[in-house]
Amino acid sequence: MAIRCYRADLILPMDGPPIPKGVVQVDDDGTIVAVGGPSLAEDQPCTHYRGVLLPGFINAHCHLELSHMQDMIPTGTGLIPFIRDIIRKREASLEQIVERAQRADDAMWRDGIVAVGDISNVDHTAAVKKRSRLCYHTFVEVFDLWQPSNAEEEYRRAQALAEQFDQAPHKVSIVPHAPYSVSYALFRRIRSEHPNGLSLSMHNQETAAENEFFMRGTGALVEFYRELGIKIEAFEPTGKTSLQSILERDLLPVNGRVLLVHNTQTTRDDIRMAQAQLESVYWVSCPNANLYIENTLPHYRLFVEEGARMCIGTDSLASNWGLSIMEEVRTILRYQSYLDWQDVLRWATLHGAQALGMDDILGSLTLGKRPGLVHIDLDVDAPQPMKTYRSHQRIV
Ligand SMILES: [Zn+2]
Repeated sequence: MAIRCYRADLILPMDGPPIPKGVVQVDDDGTIVAVGGPSLAEDQPCTHYRGVLLPGFINAHCHLELSHMQDMIPTGTGLIPFIRDIIRKREASLEQIVERAQRADDAMWRDGIVAVGDISNVDHTAAVKKRSRLCYHTFVEVFDLWQPSNAEEEYRRAQALAEQFDQAPHKVSIVPHAPYSVSYALFRRIRSEHPNGLSLSMHNQETAAENEFFMRGTGALVEFYRELGIKIEAFEPTGKTSLQSILERDLLPVNGRVLLVHNTQTTRDDIRMAQAQLESVYWVSCPNANLYIENTLPHYRLFVEEGARMCIGTDSLASNWGLSIMEEVRTILRYQSYLDWQDVLRWATLHGAQALGMDDILGSLTLGKRPGLVHIDLDVDAPQPMKTYRSHQRIV
């Protein structure tokens, strides 16, 4: 078996301290066989890279099935106009949808992404995911637009859809879309059947209107329902934020991994309550999508201060300029340069793998894992290394 040897100014194993002038050795199928200091490379040829080597990225939130909507929706309009546009413009030929999804899947591979938490509302991407070199966790998403009488039917539709994505080594689970679109009855149905050990994901507090909807029963979401001609008689304002309303009613699985996505309007109290109640909650940030849709970003400082486990996602090509985790990392560090660049890279790798329950193979440069290997060309000794970013590439 041929062993390949790589060296860099800095190796970031992610499950341990950084290794200056470190070495990584991998076998033919990408399994890590050695990680350590410079002495590991003394008696063999070893390729040297300027900058860092780290495990492959995890994209914790994507909508592959919206890839054909790139450049179709204007930026900066806000979430509700954005959703209106998605509903109005998503129709396309299956051929075009599949072709664009395939292109997006290839682009993620080239970016150095190794696994994706991907939302599906329809089966269009099943074949692309099945043959992908990436590992997918498909979150089959349900909503009943606060019509509990439709909850059972929607859940059964999701069950049938989930079967189409149930193709090892990929994973699948049924998840709620967002607090403003899912009745408590449907939340309970999802929770009652959610298999232990599988991850669950939910869009959370992506717009101020979501909290307003729950706290006072007013605002743009009420307007949105009115426009659609949908009466939301089952809904009553709670006086609490959306997340606190959901947590108070015990609607999320407490033992499993729960991914909360976006969190731009999440408060310190929300974070504390979720972390007190849920055993493993992961906060997925999609900064470029937040800037694309609402020109806003989460309050990262709150999450760091509360010891929150952060992950990174791209959201869809309908709401982003590309599907690159590296670009998301660069955006976070551009606007929040007080954050530690190595911490943010850990969000992009190990935390994402843990959130998707894939950290047995992915997420860190650990002996026996097959995590992929990414090179980022930058100056590790600069005061803010990510500011010196030149390029990155997938090596394994
Ligand atoms: Zn999303």
